[in-house]
Amino acid sequence: MLFHSTRGKDSGKTFEEVLMQGLASDGGLFMPDTWPQVDIQKLKQADTFIDVAKHIVPLFTKSSFSDEEVIEMIENTWHDFSDSSFAPIKELDDTKSVLELFHGPTGAFKDFGLQLAAAFFNKTLTKHNKTAIVLGATSGDTGSAAIDACRRFESIKSFILLPGGNMSEVQRRQMTTVNSPNVFTLIVDGTFDDCQEIVKEAFNERSFLKDDQYLLAVNSINWVRIIGQICYYFYASLKINKFEESLNFSVPTGNFGNVFACYSAHKMGMPLNKILVAVNNNNILHRFFSNNDYSRTEVYETDSPSMDISVASNFERLIYDFYAERDASLCNDFYSSFPVSPIKLEDRTWKKSKDLFLSYCVDDISTVNAMKKNYNSFHYLMDPHTAVASEAVDELSSKLEGKTIILSTAHPAKFPLVVKKAGLSLEDIPENLSIIFKRDERSYRFKASKELIFNFITENNS
Ligand SMILES: *Cc1c(COP(=O)(O)O)cnc(C)c1O
Repeated sequence: MLFHSTRGKDSGKTFEEVLMQGLASDGGLFMPDTWPQVDIQKLKQADTFIDVAKHIVPLFTKSSFSDEEVIEMIENTWHDFSDSSFAPIKELDDTKSVLELFHGPTGAFKDFGLQLAAAFFNKTLTKHNKTAIVLGATSGDTGSAAIDACRRFESIKSFILLPGGNMSEVQRRQMTTVNSPNVFTLIVDGTFDDCQEIVKEAFNERSFLKDDQYLLAVNSINWVRIIGQICYYFYASLKINKFEESLNFSVPTGNFGNVFACYSAHKMGMPLNKILVAVNNNNILHRFFSNNDYSRTEVYETDSPSMDISVASNFERLIYDFYAERDASLCNDFYSSFPVSPIKLEDRTWKKSKDLFLSYCVDDISTVNAMKKNYNSFHYLMDPHTAVASEAVDELSSKLEGKTIILSTAHPAKFPLVVKKAGLSLEDIPENLSIIFKRDERSYRFKASKELIFNFITENNS
């Protein structure tokens, strides 16, 4: 199994190359050359999440690692989960259940993708006797999950840039209270875009790297993160009905990585009715699915901040695989002029959407109301991102057949102010989210200057 770019230039890449490179050299995203097929009859014998992962992950890694190596690695990859099943499922009523993906150490589903990524980074570095710098800009849950996943590995030093200001206190403290010598949290006087710009320049210049050192990105386009997420879709289907009937999945969506993992699982043999693409007021994806209008607008701050995006980077994979039917030159045409020109598909092509996708946009008022409603009806407290997905299910219920799984992507204790706004209270706050208020914060403050920041990295890269 090799990989190629959605824009046609990079091809014949191994898993390891794709892992360490992240983005393709032509600006496209990596895709597997074919969709590996899962033996569903065999997978029915599986029981735990780890059993399922042992079926799925090796389907993508054979070009670089033996199955034995990978299967052994998977035993120890996901760590510090507070629930022994990793992804418990809670039934709300006959038609709706919640797949809880927030029991990892940082309280958000990103632990699934990033812990797998970090384990493969470390395995590759150890094999080649190299080290790496992980560099990323974050305004939400990615940074904390990346820091937590990488800090156990001596081969990796992490430098994470956060914008000063617009970030929840829990999210900030998760990154500033980590006391590990190989983790550096930099608070930049500026916006998220300023941080991202500095990271982008760092990937061009690479002046602070030692010979033979990798520079790794922790954004949502690394294929390995998708692999980690595919596993829990198969796991949920196994647990709900052993693949006997197709399910619907409602996914609170920002960069489309989680939805694309659901789509991938379906391409690999998981029965599926509909994917509900649930978004907040940052509604580029809803405008696309309802109106064939994929045009960039400004970013709005909402009560579900981890979905505040202006473009959905993983959406390119769906354009390439589903709409353009793997015609890379067509995909390249769309993206070479985006976002200056919006993406608008031919009507006939766009209409394919309705076979598989529904979308809904949920504003802050409806999000808070959905939290109240779920608590009153089911005594179930959900975080605002999960509430967006739940509200989409209620609004679209007349179009759904069979059971629907709502993906819960964060623990409500990560967003205490929104819980309060809904007039609800947090019953039990997990240890990993309460301890950060007892620890001292440690971070480095910088003006939004790449020179100052690159110097800092060089000084600490010994
Ligand atoms: C990142 C994130 C999302 C959005 O996921 P994508 O894969 O980017 O669509 C939703 N909810 C939470 C809590 C997140 O951290």
